[in-house]
This record gives sequence, structure tokens and C-alpha cells, in this order.
Amino acid sequence: MLIQRATLLDGRPVDIRVGTEIDEVGDNLTVRQGEGLLDAGGGTVLPGLHDHHVHVRSAASALDSFSVGPPGVSTKTQLAQMLSNATPGPDGWIRAVGYHESVAGELDRTALDAVVRNVPVRIQHRSGALWILNSAALGRVGLAEHPDGRLRSADRGWSDALQQRETDLAELSRRITATGITGVTDATPDLDVDDIVSLLVAHRRGEFRPRPGFLSPGKKILHDDRLDPDSLTAWIADHHSDGRPIAVHCVTAAQLVVTIAALRAAGSHPLDRIEHAAVVPDDNLSDLADLGVTVVTQPNFVAERGDQYLADVPAAEHGQLWRVASLLDAAVPVALSTDMPFGHGDPWTAMRAAVYRTTPSGAVLNANECVSATKALTMFLGRPDRPGKARTVETGQPGDLCVLTEPPATALAELDAGMVAATVIGGELVYFAM
Ligand SMILES: [Zn+2]
Repeated sequence: MLIQRATLLDGRPVDIRVGTEIDEVGDNLTVRQGEGLLDAGGGTVLPGLHDHHVHVRSAASALDSFSVGPPGVSTKTQLAQMLSNATPGPDGWIRAVGYHESVAGELDRTALDAVVRNVPVRIQHRSGALWILNSAALGRVGLAEHPDGRLRSADRGWSDALQQRETDLAELSRRITATGITGVTDATPDLDVDDIVSLLVAHRRGEFRPRPGFLSPGKKILHDDRLDPDSLTAWIADHHSDGRPIAVHCVTAAQLVVTIAALRAAGSHPLDRIEHAAVVPDDNLSDLADLGVTVVTQPNFVAERGDQYLADVPAAEHGQLWRVASLLDAAVPVALSTDMPFGHGDPWTAMRAAVYRTTPSGAVLNANECVSATKALTMFLGRPDRPGKARTVETGQPGDLCVLTEPPATALAELDAGMVAATVIGGELVYFAM
């Protein structure tokens, strides 16, 4: 197809011929017979956005789940109302996501039974690592005698027993391509071959349009109470000896420090990644730069949960939370992502969070870490395999583009998904705003 009257992010007006790759970028290109034509009307044309850390299946499931966490549900009464009024899905279950202890404490089967007794209920903690089931649900999965109904997601035995609800990948695909996203990296740690193949097949069939990438199996989640530097070093060395990079999930300072030590001992691979890096003490900025690891982070959590951090984290440590600017200043490669569905899946919301770092109540968390709109946007344009290295609109680059209604200055001032006019993947128009 031919896109006429486009403006590149640097302000240059161009026409763009795009197929599987970008074929031509120039002035006054003329439309060929049989070629689709899109008039960008002076709007900005960007490489398609890539969300570098998402959970595709969970995000598709979350589309038809109830949300039972803040800010929508923040008290025990609201939780009880939401659950007692919930209509079960086609499989007979009430499924809810996004729970946090600030709503009604540590939930267990007894607490859920008091609200819903006869219909199976399962509630996912917003960390994604824990499910809480009521007695009816425990009976359905063969765990009627379970002491408290709090089940870890990592225990595959019971989760396989749950009837897998058909997830609506097509609806998820429609929603995310409408934000200009042309590729995602699924960062789910325990994906098996079937999960990977089924998403690749859905992509090939056109049911899930964004290009899928995967971190599994080179992805590791650490737990503070079980940190073992030696086994982490061995795991890293094992992956590297097969030529595979690793990605380690670090949400606490202890996890980051142990990961850095293990990378120093095992040596780093140029494509190694640290997911989240939610807490980075000052001393570790230069360590990360020395190791050359890419940080894939989510400042959207500042916009979504910032008030909780301000309340729960000692003031002296606020400067370490969800850093972006100081990582860039230390020459650490950084990419942004949403962690959808655990974070809100709109990349533009995440960019605004990186620029303003405003919490839900309007406070600013860690103003030193604010970045410019151009930087925030560019950190969603990274290569799937090298998230810290931005793609560009140039001949030979993949034919994945995001067309905005506005020229660059307005686009950067607004950073809003409502500006996405069209999304192109491999030269095909996959989203067009009517
Ligand atoms: Zn994640």
C-alpha cells in the first residue's frame, strides 16, 4: 500500500510505500495499479509500537473477568457487592482479576463463601501469582479439602484441572491494534510449547494480528524468600552456553542485587533482559550499564498504583521506584511495556506516565525520573529482539506502521491512543479509525 502525506517524527514530510517491508520512503510517490492508498493528511507515521512485556492469554481472559481491585473496587463492601451481583460466565464460573489486600485483606475460601456460596468463584491476585477460590470452586477442581483456598499459579496441577475458558484473542487483538501496537512479547514465565504454538497459529490465521514474540523458557521469576545466587548463576550460564539470552523478573532491590551478582559471575549476553526493575538502588545503575542488560520496565504502575507506593514504601526509597531517566542517563538500554493485563494495556497511558509520573491522586512520584515525550514514545518502538534499539521508518524495515491523525508536535504533546488513525502490519491495514 501507499501512504501519502505522512510526517515522520523528525518533521520530514514523506510518502511511504509499504509491503512486508517498507519498500520506499520519498517525495511524491505515485499510486500503482492495485495498490491501496491511505492519505495520512500530514499526520505522524511511526514504526508500529511494540509492547515488550505482556501476558496474552491472561489479557484475553481478563476481557470477560470482573475487576476487583483498586481504584474501581477498594473496600470490602464494594467487593461483596461486585461478587454477589456478578453473572457467571458460560462455564458457570465467576472469574475476577486484579485483587489486592488493600481491598479486604488476605482473602480465603471462608471469606468468599460468606459472599458467594453456590457458584464457583475464582479471584486472581493482581500480581498474577495467586488465585483464591471459594468452596464451590475448590470442589470443582478436586481440592474440596484445601485448607484456605489460596492457590499459587505456578502449581500447574490444579490450574490444568480448571476448565480452560475459550479466550477471545480476536477481541484482544482488535483492542491492542487500535492503540497502534503491531507486536507484543509474551513474558509469561511458564508457557509450554502448546501455549506458544496456539498463539502462533492464531497469528497465522489472522485471529491475533500483532506479531507475537516469547521470552519463555529463558525467563525466571525470583522470590525474595528463596533467593539463591548459585542456582541463578548456574541457570544463566546454562542458557548462555546454548546461546540463549535470559530475562529475569526483578521487582525488589534484593532480587536485582542477586541478579546482578549472578550475571557478573556467569557473564552477560548482549540480549539479556531484566523485567520490571521496579526498585533500582543508586549503586546498581552503573552495574546494569556495565553488564549491558536491557531493562524492560513499566512506569504505568506509577500512574496506576503510585499512591500505594507513596504510602507503603519508606520515603528514602521513593527515588528507587520505577526509574527511567536515571537508567537512560547511565546508558542502560531501556524499553517500556505495559505488563497487560496486570498493568493497563494502553501504551499511550504508559508513555504519559513516563513523562508526568502522576499518581491517581495527582501526586508526582519521583519527578527526577520523568523523560521527554519523544523518549517515552521511542521506548515503545524498540526491536522485538533488542527492545532498547528503536526501529525507524526507513526502506528495508518491517512493514509495520502506526499512523496518527496529528503532526508530531501535537502527537507528542497529547500522547493519546485516540490519535491512532490506522495500524499497518506487514503492509496490511489491520486497524482503521472510521
Ligand atoms: Zn509480567
